[in-house]
Amino acid sequence: MKRPDIIVVGAGSAGCVAARRCAELGLRTLLLDRKPKEKIGQKVCGDEVSKSHFEATGIDIPKDDEISTVIAGADVYPPSLKNELQVRGWSDFDGWTLNRLTFGQRLLDEAIQAGVIFMPSIHVGGPITIGDQVTGIQYKNLETGEEKIVKTKIVVDASGFAAIIRNKLESPLIENNIDKGDIALCYREILKLKVPLAEPEVARVFLGEGIAPQGYAWVFPKSAQEVNAGIGVTGGEGKGSPKAHFTEFKKKYPLLFESTVIDGKGGAVPVRRPLKSLVGDGVLFVGDAALQVNPIHGGGIGAGMRAGIILGEVAREAIARRDVTAKGLWSYNTRYLTNFGKRLAALEIFRRLLQSVSDEELDYGFEKRILEAGDLMAANKGDGFSLSPMDKMKRVRRGAGKLSLLLKIQKAASLMKKMSKAYAAYPSNSAGLDKWERNVLSIVEDANFK
Ligand SMILES: Cc1cc2nc3c(=O)[nH]c(=O)nc-3n(C[C@H](O)[C@H](O)[C@H](O)COP(=O)(O)OP(=O)(O)OC[C@H]3O[C@@H](n4cnc5c(N)ncnc54)[C@H](O)[C@@H]3O)c2cc1C
Repeated sequence: MKRPDIIVVGAGSAGCVAARRCAELGLRTLLLDRKPKEKIGQKVCGDEVSKSHFEATGIDIPKDDEISTVIAGADVYPPSLKNELQVRGWSDFDGWTLNRLTFGQRLLDEAIQAGVIFMPSIHVGGPITIGDQVTGIQYKNLETGEEKIVKTKIVVDASGFAAIIRNKLESPLIENNIDKGDIALCYREILKLKVPLAEPEVARVFLGEGIAPQGYAWVFPKSAQEVNAGIGVTGGEGKGSPKAHFTEFKKKYPLLFESTVIDGKGGAVPVRRPLKSLVGDGVLFVGDAALQVNPIHGGGIGAGMRAGIILGEVAREAIARRDVTAKGLWSYNTRYLTNFGKRLAALEIFRRLLQSVSDEELDYGFEKRILEAGDLMAANKGDGFSLSPMDKMKRVRRGAGKLSLLLKIQKAASLMKKMSKAYAAYPSNSAGLDKWERNVLSIVEDANFK
């Protein structure tokens, strides 16, 4: 291959989609991953993805052996495990639990078919730079031991949580230190249940400090008698090991009693609003490396694929204009952050609300239906949710014992709208970024519901 136009580091879902789009648009694209080819797609994950992401991107929906099972609803449980909210009939929640390996292999095949050159077993050590401009990468071939530098016009960091390029760059545009409170440490098991599921198309989510400190637990069906179940905990090691919390959870939730463990592993996922800038000079960030993840449930497959499509288009335009500085790449920021990114940012507020509510308040709120299924749906869309005066009165009557909870919910709804508005007004160039960031940080600071 002649010198590549663009190098994509990491062949996860975000990297494969981004690389494919670049190649489709005529860029000489090199995709590197430290895994061997047959392991691309293997990932510790909840495996669930919504159909809406495929509709939004035009990526073919998963089929046949890429699908473990179809999902058509969710039950959300408070700590008491009683009075769950049943979220049904909303297409945004419809989707699948995936066979991650076959799905990942398909995304890789599609990238290769589009013209991407893929090199497996390549460990990228970091970027090569001239001043602030990224001009290439250095890597080690894990099979031959060969070490090499490859120069290019644009480097894409799609290396997931590791963010191997981003973490080695220093520039006012680039964020390297992500707060521990914005990272979910997870543990998940694939379990064979003793008794088959009554509703194998329904995902289950569990809230509460007593179950998952500052996080949540999930049970996602893989088939009628197999589930992907796990726990994510934010706030760092001080919150205890997610595996230990999961072991406790398995003792509490009858569905999991006497289940057989097929596989158990840990992982980590960022649960914050996306990076303030998804671009730097000669560099673009996508997927977990860009914090493109839904902050309330840690879902990042769709969020990263959506970004990958935009990234390819922006890279092609920037190379055609011969401007691969942050300025030339800026439209990736505006196109993603004013659109899907604003939804993710608003959801960070909802995450903060859920983290601030005590187990007692959660149980009460679910029992009295102070929070309704419609709120969860609106929140998931990142719109914030509006309570009409009539609605407010009804909820005040139902929740008379805990008005403070209703006030917190109202405050969260209003801050979500504010955050959404701030992202809609993302600056058109880096000159406005500091002022914009100050506004965003002040909204985050307000989202303290204690
Ligand atoms: C326990 C858990 C449960 C989750 N559940 C869900 C869920 O149900 N639904 C959902 O949508 N999301 C879920 N997520 C999040 C989701 O898995 C990620 O958001 C998504 O996989 C991110 O894709 P990515 O392509 O950015 O990164 P990854 O899939 O992590 O891919 C990164 C790639 O980069 C490669 N790489 C890393 N470092 C280097 C290096 N130095 N050199 C070369 N290659 C490198 C890796 O080998 C990997 O292939 C979950 C995450 C966890 C941890």
